[in-house]
Amino acid sequence: MKELVLPLPDEAATVALGAALAKACDRASVIYLYGDLGAGKTTFSRGFLQALGHRGNVKSPTYTLVEPYALAPLAVYHFDLYRLADPEELEFMGIRDYFAQDAICLVEWPQQGTGVLPDPDLELHLSYQDQGRDAKIQAVSAYGSQLLDRIHGPQG
Ligand code: ADP
Ligand code: MG
Repeated sequence: MKELVLPLPDEAATVALGAALAKACDRASVIYLYGDLGAGKTTFSRGFLQALGHRGNVKSPTYTLVEPYALAPLAVYHFDLYRLADPEELEFMGIRDYFAQDAICLVEWPQQGTGVLPDPDLELHLSYQDQGRDAKIQAVSAYGSQLLDRIHGPQG
């Protein structure tokens, strides 16, 4: 499957990548966000949500696990599974209902939900690089591959 590697020299570049992907998503989509603490997963999510019209702050839903955003054309569910003790907890919170909807799911710390989360369309891997970050985006589904094609233009 396709992959794209992008340098993200500053926070604005991470926000812009989130915005570009948000504009590309035109149907239910699942994006896994990998990277150490502070790598920029929530910053990416803020760029994504604000590009779809969300105004204001975006915090990682570390304690509630998921934050819903009623946006157009699609609702967005922002997950942060960092504090998830057991993937089975996801069953109790009705994870399947979230992913069954016509919505976009952004998932921080997806490795915490192994075996219960549905497969993603895209995986974003953020890593520290000097003062900035590197992004590696991997397409996991055919639709994810289309998404990569769509953002490749604006991102150069
Ligand atoms: P995470 O959700 O991965 O723990 P956050 O997005 O909450 O990370 O925090 C990332 C921090 O790094 C923020 O302070 C943000 O301003 C900064 N940051 C985000 N992207 C970049 C970048 N490309 N270069 C430098 N700093 C960045
Ligand atoms: Mg975060």
